Parts: sequence; structure tokens; C-alpha cells
Amino acid sequence: MIRMLSQAYKRRQRSPDAAWRALETFFDGFRADISAVLSMNWDTVFERGVARAQTLRRVEYGCHARAVMFDGNSLISRRLTGEPLHILKPHGSVNWLYCDACRETFWVPPSDTDRVAQTLFRQQDWAVLPKPKSKLPAIRTPACPHCDTQSLGTRFATFSYRKALDFPMHSASWRTAERYLKGTADWVFIGYSMPAADFEFKHLLKRVQLTEGDRPNITVITGGRDADATIDRYKKFFGDVKGKRFAFKNGLDVEALRHLEKIKVLSA
Ligand SMILES: [Zn+2]
Repeated sequence: MIRMLSQAYKRRQRSPDAAWRALETFFDGFRADISAVLSMNWDTVFERGVARAQTLRRVEYGCHARAVMFDGNSLISRRLTGEPLHILKPHGSVNWLYCDACRETFWVPPSDTDRVAQTLFRQQDWAVLPKPKSKLPAIRTPACPHCDTQSLGTRFATFSYRKALDFPMHSASWRTAERYLKGTADWVFIGYSMPAADFEFKHLLKRVQLTEGDRPNITVITGGRDADATIDRYKKFFGDVKGKRFAFKNGLDVEALRHLEKIKVLSA
């Protein structure tokens, strides 16, 4: 799965279409100094986009994950300076490694996810598969940078009602998300249809919306055949307040980008 995400990403980067270019405009202008991101996906599209457009490489995942990098078969600490990108990934991320022994979480540069895959898929996993025609990808067996045991793995929360959310990095991400959501003027939802399975997230949103004195403005940027139904679902969920609800049903088009400039998610 990690390699497929990475291959799909590289393919589109080589032959960009209109959607990719709109995304680049978004990353160029994204105000990382006053905005935070909550991503329900495992991919590193956001981190890589902002790193490319603004050379922001310091990422704050809000779950005490430590920055490391591969050095051959080892993981070593990585010191990062400069403005951080605040991005929370409560369902996990393809550039994270989690230690089952000491329960620390580590993150590698978002472009190095192939090496994470090489760590997770071990010798014994290849042994049970039919021999591939091409050469086997490398296998890495780094020790945990904290406790030095061979216990690195990962955790992904999957699309189901019964998500594995009780791991320390997932629950820390949710706590941080709640802190960011409180006192934020604008909540912007991009490409998120608010599925029924995310009932815990919906509960968090509703609770914060109702307990904050100044309630947030809601912007929905969606697309596809179900766009109208999605916008309707948001209206029902957050209430339709005149002048405080904004909906765009053609993805990140010119109109949506202009609105994001107006509410200062993007610099003008
Ligand atoms: Zn450890």
C-alpha cells in the first residue's frame, strides 16, 4: 500500500494535470504560520507539497513523534529548524514507525516512505509469497532509536466502525486536534465527505462547535457526483447560518482558492 501511494504520487508529479496544478497553487500560498491541518489519510501529499513549495521541512505531528532518518540500516535523529508545518494524522501515516516495546513514534522524511515499507515487510513476509519475477526490494531491520530493540512496526486506523484508535499516537493526535479546533475562526473541509464510520470525529466536531463561545465559520470544498449530497450533509450537521457557511462543489477551483485567500488560509 505504501509503495502504491508513492508510485501514484510520482506518476502524477511527472505528468501534472489541472488538479495537480491547483494543489500546487494551494501549497504555494498555504499559511502554515496561522493554519493547522488535520489529515484523515495516511499519505504524505500535504507534507511533500509544502516542503516543495515553501521549503518547510519541519513537521509537527502533534503526537510526540520524533524526527529521524535512515542511515543505511539504522535510524538516526534528525535536527530540524525553521517554521513548522502543523499537521495531525489521527489515522497514522506512511512515514511513521511505531515501537511496540517502548511505544515511541518516529517519523522519517515524507519522501522516504519506501524505506518504511522495506522495514515493515520483512524477510519472513516475502518467504510466504510466490517468488517475484523482479528482484526483491531491499529489506531493512533498523533497531528502535529509543530502546534499541527490534520492535519497529506501525499502526494504521482503517475505514471501519471499529478503528484501532487506542494507540498512544492516535489518542495524542485527537487531543491536539481538539486544542486546535477550539478558538479557530474557520474550519475548512477539503475532499471529506464526513462518512458515517467517522462518528468519533463527528462527535468531536459537534462538541467543540457547541461549547465554544465564538462558533467557527464552515467552508466545504468538495466535488464529484455526490457534491450536492455532501454539502447538504454539512448543512444538516453544522446548521445553516447565513453568512457563516461557504460551499464549493468543483474542488479547488479559482473560486475556492479565492475564498481561501479571503479567510487567510492562503496568502494573497
Ligand atoms: Zn523502542
